[in-house]
Amino acid sequence: MRCSVCKQNLATQHFTAVAGGVTKYEKHVCVTCAPAVQQEYEKMVVGPARDEYLAATIAKPIRFVYVAGPLSKPSELDNIRAAVVWGDRVLDAGFVPLIPHLDALWHLISPRPYETWLAWCLAWVERCDAVLRIPGASAGADREVAHARDVGIPVFYAGDHLEGDGLDQLVRITKLVRERTGGQTG
Ligand SMILES: [Zn+2]
Repeated sequence: MRCSVCKQNLATQHFTAVAGGVTKYEKHVCVTCAPAVQQEYEKMVVGPARDEYLAATIAKPIRFVYVAGPLSKPSELDNIRAAVVWGDRVLDAGFVPLIPHLDALWHLISPRPYETWLAWCLAWVERCDAVLRIPGASAGADREVAHARDVGIPVFYAGDHLEGDGLDQLVRITKLVRERTGGQTG
C-alpha cells in the first residue's frame, strides 16, 4: 500500500482510532510522512477515540508519575506548593508521584549547579511511566517534557481543558491499559 500523504513511498505505519465501534480516523503513511500525520492526528482525535489511541501506544499500566512544573519563577515556595498539591492528587488517584521540587531542600543543604539538577531530573523522567506537566511557564519542565517524548514516555497536561484535565485523562487511559494487559506492571 502506498502512503496516503506523499502517494509515493510504501506505507509502513497505520494511524487509526476507533471509538464506540466507529472508525474516527485512519491513515496509512510512510516513515517520512508519519511525524506530520501524528501531529495532525493528535490534534484531531479527541475524546474517547483519543483515549483509545493513546492507551494503545502504552505497553504497561502507568504507576510512577513524574510531576513536571516550574520551580524558581515566579515564586519558588508557591511552585513547590503547587507541585505538592498536584502530587497529592496523583497519589490519591492511585499512582506513585515523583515530585522533583522537594529536592529544593537537598539544594538548600548542598547546592549544586542547575545543569546537575536538570540531568538528575531527566534521569528520573526516564524511570517514570508518565509525566504530568502542571501549569506554569518553565524552561526546565519543557526540557523534561521533550526528554520524555524522546524516550517514549507519555506526557499528560494538568489543567488542560481542551480534553479535560490531564490527570483525569491519565486515570482513564490507565484503566484502558489495565483492561488490555490484565493489570501487569514492571
Ligand atoms: Zn509518505
